[in-house]
Amino acid sequence: MVCRALSAGVKSPLLVTLPNSRFPNAELVAALGALTPVYTPLNVREEENKQKLHQLGLLAVGDSDTSSQLEKLVSAYDASFTVCRDVGETGPERMAPPRVAEYIQGAFANGNIKVTVVDDQSVILKDFPLMAAVNRAANAVKEHQARLIRLEYVGEGETQDTFFVVGKGVTIDTGGCDLKTGGHMFGMCRDKYGSAVVGGFFKAIDVLKPKNIKAVGYMCMVRNSIGSRAYTCDEVITSRSGKRIHIYNTDAEGRLTMLDPLTLAKEEALKAKNPHLFTVATLTGHEVLSYGYYAAIMDNGPAKASGWARKVQEVGDEFGQPIEISRLHPEDFAFHLAECEQADLRQGNTKPSVATLRGHQTPAAFLQMASRIDEHGTDSAHPLKYTHIDMGGCEGDHPSVSFPNPLVTLVAGLVLPHV
Ligand SMILES: [Zn+2]
Repeated sequence: MVCRALSAGVKSPLLVTLPNSRFPNAELVAALGALTPVYTPLNVREEENKQKLHQLGLLAVGDSDTSSQLEKLVSAYDASFTVCRDVGETGPERMAPPRVAEYIQGAFANGNIKVTVVDDQSVILKDFPLMAAVNRAANAVKEHQARLIRLEYVGEGETQDTFFVVGKGVTIDTGGCDLKTGGHMFGMCRDKYGSAVVGGFFKAIDVLKPKNIKAVGYMCMVRNSIGSRAYTCDEVITSRSGKRIHIYNTDAEGRLTMLDPLTLAKEEALKAKNPHLFTVATLTGHEVLSYGYYAAIMDNGPAKASGWARKVQEVGDEFGQPIEISRLHPEDFAFHLAECEQADLRQGNTKPSVATLRGHQTPAAFLQMASRIDEHGTDSAHPLKYTHIDMGGCEGDHPSVSFPNPLVTLVAGLVLPHV
């Protein structure tokens, strides 16, 4: 309907939404759907300085309370979607790591989110050695050098929950030395969509100002380039946690990019109030084969004990952005044990995830073991909740306008209860 209005030249449409007793969020979901064709890509906005609409009117059929509440949520989601889409689907030069950092600093200027950027490559090498390995080829080009962007929000009132959200931000995934051939590199500018969801998540927080929560986000921005300094298979690299990691395939770079920032988040979580750690990533083709356009969530023991995955799955159904629950097996952990004495763990195997048994579940086990989150299980003195989210291709196919998925669900599950 909005597409038809746009093609007719309408500049200020009024969207009337109807309540539905079976679907309590029908009006919000309908309004969010209307935002998709209204999005204008960042490069077009920058070059032409124009928007498709002057304004979008919202009228919720119900009491006046519903309309103002709807407007508040749609405005927050709209701002959040824009940040997510700008970062997630814009090309690898306009959204190279340094320019993502610049964009995020601009997007959160004078707001409620504190943004800090690690741009010193010697610090990245020392504190985030696996991220530095993925960055090694790109590091030779100043415009492509890695950035770790930290976002922090402290809500009013006493903190009840603390969320740590770590996003994969590979600005273009060439595969590295295990080069993506046969056209498989096309669309890999979206390999930063995990970080894009993190940025969007914090934009929603920035607008909605939830109370009694603290949130920390890490956008791990690197380019997986191929070149003379590129990292290769057979290397053994010691992670921030002290685990020696044996590299098997340079195209399995997402887990390596997030690993050391996740370890840092774990160190912070140990001092935080009721912490829950998350990784969000377009990690595997195996997830796409398993679940199509839905994201998969995988809880560790303490997160499962809190009932998180089941709860958020319900939320996703209610907000029109369903997610699938995937479970970890003991074999997923065994799979990543090193095959030789040089290392503690192996990064993966030499095959792509789509040709690997349990290709999207084992990385969740790897991330826990390599960051030592596995030392904080339900039977430990200090359990830590951890959930890995493999987005697969849930943001939709490049180059069509992307769907900020599972952003709607994450905001609805983690933020809205505190608004
Ligand atoms: Zn890759």
